[in-house]
Amino acid sequence: MVQLEPPARLTPAMQQFWDAKQANPDCLLLFRMGDFYETFYEDAVTVSRELELTLTARDKGAGGTGIPMAGVPHHAVNGYIARLVEKGYKVAVCDQMEDPALARGLVRREVTRVVTPGVVLDVESLSAGQPNYLLGLAGAGSGPFGLAYLDISTGEFWASEADGPARLLDELARIEPRELRLTPTAGEALAERLASRTGWLVETVPATELPGERGVQRLLDVRRPLAGGAGQSAGLSHLQAVESFGFTQPALVAQAAALVLGYIERTQKRVAEHVAGLRCYSLAGAMILDETTRANLELDRTLIGGKRQGSLLGLVDRTRTPMGARLLRRWLGYPLLDVAAIDERLGAVAELVEKPSLRVALEEVLARLADLERLAGRLGSQVASPRELKALQTSAELLPRLRAALLAQAQAPLLQSRAATLDTLDDLGRLVAEAVVDDPPAHAREGGVIRVGRDAALDELIRLSTGGKDVLLELEATERQSTGISSLKLRYNKVFGYYLEVTRPNLHLVPERYLRKQTMVNAERFYTPELKEWEEKILSAEEKRIALEAALFEELRGRLAGEVGRIQAAARVIAELDVLVGFAALAERQGYVRPVVDEGEGLVIEEGRHPVVEALQKSPFVPNTIELDCREQQLLIITGPNMAGKSTAMRQTALIVLLAQIGSFVPAAAAHIGIVDRIFARVGAADNLAQGRSTFMVEMMETASILAHATRRSLLVLDEIGRGTSTFDGVSIAWAVAEHIHDRLGARTVFATHYHELTELALTRSRVRNWSVAVKEWQDEVVFLRKLVPGATGRSYGIQVARLAGLPTTVVERAREVLANLEANQIDASARPALARSRTESAAAPAGPRQLDLFAPAALPPRVVQLLQNVDPDTLSPRDALLLVYQLRQELVAGQP
Ligand code: ATP
Repeated sequence: MVQLEPPARLTPAMQQFWDAKQANPDCLLLFRMGDFYETFYEDAVTVSRELELTLTARDKGAGGTGIPMAGVPHHAVNGYIARLVEKGYKVAVCDQMEDPALARGLVRREVTRVVTPGVVLDVESLSAGQPNYLLGLAGAGSGPFGLAYLDISTGEFWASEADGPARLLDELARIEPRELRLTPTAGEALAERLASRTGWLVETVPATELPGERGVQRLLDVRRPLAGGAGQSAGLSHLQAVESFGFTQPALVAQAAALVLGYIERTQKRVAEHVAGLRCYSLAGAMILDETTRANLELDRTLIGGKRQGSLLGLVDRTRTPMGARLLRRWLGYPLLDVAAIDERLGAVAELVEKPSLRVALEEVLARLADLERLAGRLGSQVASPRELKALQTSAELLPRLRAALLAQAQAPLLQSRAATLDTLDDLGRLVAEAVVDDPPAHAREGGVIRVGRDAALDELIRLSTGGKDVLLELEATERQSTGISSLKLRYNKVFGYYLEVTRPNLHLVPERYLRKQTMVNAERFYTPELKEWEEKILSAEEKRIALEAALFEELRGRLAGEVGRIQAAARVIAELDVLVGFAALAERQGYVRPVVDEGEGLVIEEGRHPVVEALQKSPFVPNTIELDCREQQLLIITGPNMAGKSTAMRQTALIVLLAQIGSFVPAAAAHIGIVDRIFARVGAADNLAQGRSTFMVEMMETASILAHATRRSLLVLDEIGRGTSTFDGVSIAWAVAEHIHDRLGARTVFATHYHELTELALTRSRVRNWSVAVKEWQDEVVFLRKLVPGATGRSYGIQVARLAGLPTTVVERAREVLANLEANQIDASARPALARSRTESAAAPAGPRQLDLFAPAALPPRVVQLLQNVDPDTLSPRDALLLVYQLRQELVAGQP
């Protein structure tokens, strides 16, 4: 950034620059000079580099290099600001506060706005379906932490608390704030961990700028309606909302909220009307989805490439309004735990599926509505344009149709209640309709916005300015006639005003009363006293008209701004309807069914499909049934070759649960889901080398976190735990983890593995079941059937898959040889059966002693085990059976020491 010590001698304008800069040292300062916004010193270097502008110099003294300077034209400044903010810069705009033509001496200048990544109002710089949060964070050490976040473009304002850094980081990943402001102690605890996030601007607020107790009180002692209409803290001030919610550390939450509001005050010069009532929530109030789970399930972006296309959100989002798209994103982040609330949503979706006419009626209106939530934000911040007001009018004209369709057809309680509360904003629409012309210009500054007949004084000025122009045309005609100069023209330019232009050959015809104004190469320009008089009348009428229009427009916008709470509440209802209609459209299009969600502990998905794979893949998708519960089949061990479809089956289980708990229908023939409080999905770990952790380390940390936080109500989806280390270590860890889940957690779990050894768990643990994904072997090829079947697979087919993938034949053949050796050894050492034992086995575990005795290596020579394994009792004749007994006995005797 710029050096903060101003040079000793400054011109008055540069003194203004320094004053503004010192008040906003963290910002690039755009300083209005004439038709340009200029930047100076290091700001100029930065801006010229980032925006590819020419770097020039100002005040070059003799031999001096001058001050580096780069500027942008004033009319295009918003685009440049947007680009700088997109790149993570903060920009302060210093404007001329008076008309330079009228100012005596130096023009007064002031910083009128500060635009930062977390405080953006310009709709074009925002992504329509995504909120743009500024987040405040207070706390210290290992927690607890208070957090509050605001989307200034819509006014929604939230607060919560997290008991420690892990929960906090998960919550931040869910919120994805664009800009974070931390108290000094929170900064000490977290700034380093947050710094690696791309796209987040993280700043620790210096202690001197921290709002003290009184500052917090002042900032939070504001009563505002909630963006969503009625709710838990309606009618309360921000402060009361925090204090009455039941946070363990309300003071931290209040401080976090004050950080946000204080920053808004600084950047916007005031806290705008549309900043809604603070909505407090508990992290335990919704299904918990940690960051890894969200990433692994590809909820809003794909694991590879980070694209929306291919994610669950990309598939599920059938919304027609940006408000709906943003709400859906929020719902997906916070699946419900309350069965009644889920059922309410499902009931609404069901009705919209059953009544296509209702759905279509709603869709038609939704598709034409403006982004009322952001419009409310722009009204509240007093930046809404005439066209945006018109959009409010158009939307208000459509809302009665939406309401009427609901009232006429909807039976579902949720839809009925929304129809009852939907404010159709008629009066606001009418206000705009009566005041603003049908097709207004983009900006109010040139006038032409207010309707004729709206205001008598304005009408008079309009008559004078436009009527005056008719007079001038007449005047031109008369002058042509009286002088006989047919080419005489009456013209206007900004510098010289109105004039009569006569070409050189006609100059001899010019009468005495013409007064010379300007000489050109081929013509002379004149005026007459009469022309001068009209010019004054017209120009002042025009000026007055623009000023009066601006005032009328401001007044109208101010009146609407006073009603933003209503617009926000309506927007919220529309968003909800939009999401529900979208769910219905999805269900109908993709053949989803209504799930049954209850408080039980079961999880039955009949013929379930992976929503995204089924939609994107060309080949047909094979549905699979999964049954889980906490009592009988708690832990499914799924084996099967690579590429068989294990991960897909597991992910789809998690996604179906998640869809059900946000109130959507699900891709299955039927689904019965006992509420899940938390999903843990570990589907292969990603390296986090940037943070100095290996793949295996990350995987183990994630596993540790699951074992620490999962409850009996959780759903665990674990793929290849323990694969990142040596086979024996890996099997041992996977085994112990599975046992722990079975014995201690009791959580419903799907556990996919390539370690066939794990299938033996079913022998010793009552609620473990083996399943596998079926394949067919055909002429040494594997054919994937994609079907989950009971029982374990005996083989992994890794080498076949490697061959499919194109490994050289020599390598594949050699791998077969090595495998044969390994498998022989495995039997010799009796490694597999031995896995089930533990050191304290004899004292502790009564489970399956016979089985263990039978397979204990000390009791049986390997050859006996092999003979028993190879025998098929169903096809054995009595004679062969007898022979086998002889043989076994012989081996047993031979094998004894
Ligand atoms: P690995 O053990 O190598 O991780 P996997 O058994 O987990 O493999 P998946 O990644 O689930 O296999 O599936 C591989 C591919 O098979 C998927 O990308 C998908 O295209 C296809 N597939 C999986 N399940 C099905 C299904 N039920 N119906 C049709 N295609 C499927």
